[in-house]
Amino acid sequence: MSDLDFLAAARTLLGERGLTIDPDLLAPWLSDWRGRFHGRALALASPASTAEVAALVTLCAAHRVPIVPQGGNSGMSGGATPDGSGCAILVSLRRMTALRLDPEAREAVCEAGVILQTLHEAAGREGLRFPLTLGGKGSATIGGLISTNAGGTQVLRHGSMRAQVLGIEAVLADGTAFDALVPLKKDNRGFDLKQVLIGSEGTLGIVTAATLRLLPALAERTVLWAGLASIDDARRLLLQAERQAGDALEGFEVLPRHSLEAVLAHTPGTRSPLAGDHAWHALIELAADAAAAPQLGATAQSLLESAFAAGLVEDATIAANEAQAEAFWLLRDEIAPAERALGPAVQHDISVPVARMAAFVGEAVAAVEARFAGTQAIAFGHLGDGNVHFHVLAPAGAVRGTWETENGKEISAFVHDLVVASGGSISAEHGIGQLKRDELGRIGDPVQLALMRKIKQALDPLDILNPGKLVPPCA
Ligand SMILES: Cc1cc2nc3c(=O)[nH]c(=O)nc-3n(C[C@H](O)[C@H](O)[C@H](O)COP(=O)(O)OP(=O)(O)OC[C@H]3O[C@@H](n4cnc5c(N)ncnc54)[C@H](O)[C@@H]3O)c2cc1C
Repeated sequence: MSDLDFLAAARTLLGERGLTIDPDLLAPWLSDWRGRFHGRALALASPASTAEVAALVTLCAAHRVPIVPQGGNSGMSGGATPDGSGCAILVSLRRMTALRLDPEAREAVCEAGVILQTLHEAAGREGLRFPLTLGGKGSATIGGLISTNAGGTQVLRHGSMRAQVLGIEAVLADGTAFDALVPLKKDNRGFDLKQVLIGSEGTLGIVTAATLRLLPALAERTVLWAGLASIDDARRLLLQAERQAGDALEGFEVLPRHSLEAVLAHTPGTRSPLAGDHAWHALIELAADAAAAPQLGATAQSLLESAFAAGLVEDATIAANEAQAEAFWLLRDEIAPAERALGPAVQHDISVPVARMAAFVGEAVAAVEARFAGTQAIAFGHLGDGNVHFHVLAPAGAVRGTWETENGKEISAFVHDLVVASGGSISAEHGIGQLKRDELGRIGDPVQLALMRKIKQALDPLDILNPGKLVPPCA
């Protein structure tokens, strides 16, 4: 069958709205969010139901047409961008947006194309919330979030996407629909297959729907900002916060002086919450539902008093109102764009065991700056999850684009080797995609890699689901 015959058959399955080869309609979806990867595709398919996804995958399998699943295209690792061959079909789940809430069971059944923000709003209308959020919430879809096992700023208390998925529906590489949407609190029928699909970046199946857990809406939150002498003090403050605030500890983020200064210089209307100068800053959020809300203010107050008494903080303040709380969070959320605006940088999304993080940051910053003359290394982010974004900033005068191309690979290999030596992961929350596949192949655990290849071979023997992503080939 020629490409034209294949496209005609696909159009018959999906209808006029479900398939396009118009270059103008395809163009926005052929490059990744950060503009690092660009590809070509045979067509953009937009199925409207699980049955249409299944029929399309069956057709693709019969004709060996590779499939690149795509949600909001907000991923950070190029996983949703096809290669340059133009052989693959881009399968967008964005038309599949059905959403049904069961407030009594505190569950949401979402089709894959539901945008995260839409879920937040729908849950809010029922006095509930979905306990996962991130900067790309206006674009990221449930299918993409599941397929990358996304994290965000509330993992500390609620876990990543893995912890939110109660049930899943997915179309497998031969077109079979795997229906495990019904959530069971107890189910010991063997392998947890939904967990195999979560985080598989479209290489094992196309997620078409999921049942997600919801929690009671927050009645109150208290946001604190602390200035600290060192990241080790931040780690000790985290331990103190875990002990004193318990379940109320919703988020714990750290940023070095450099990141705060970058945001203050780059983002209009921002100002530092504290008057003095501090080497490190911590942003702490405590939150409670209606039952626990009355104690929240006192918990925050006593946390600060004991932190001052133990010499863990140099200065600290509590947001006086919701507007100030938002202003504190804006300082955190603006770090990535502010650091990018400063100049070229090579970025890493890494994790090490929480207890090792403070030492790791100190050692890795020193090692990188010693090895690559003129660079500056900074680490910021989710200290409570043992996950920081580790950016290596270029020497003054370096040319954007050229510097990263010439140095990025060597710098990343150096950083990743340090991470692996600390027992960590080269992808904490952004996935592997095409960005880190070779690195995973270079330094991944051989036993884990062999298992991943066996699972891929078993579930997708023709290698039609997102080929070239996530699973490194044999050396
Ligand atoms: C401003 C910003 C901030 C972010 N902050 C965070 C953060 O703090 N923490 C974090 O973890 N992530 C963060 N992200 C990245 C986030 O993980 C992604 O935005 C999201 O998970 C991807 O969803 P998507 O629908 O855009 O998926 P896409 O980008 O379209 O796809 C991502 C991957 O999933 C696959 N895929 C997509 N849909 C499906 C499906 N239905 N079935 C099978 N495979 C599928 C794709 O093939 C690709 O491999 C951020 C992104 C942005 C833009």
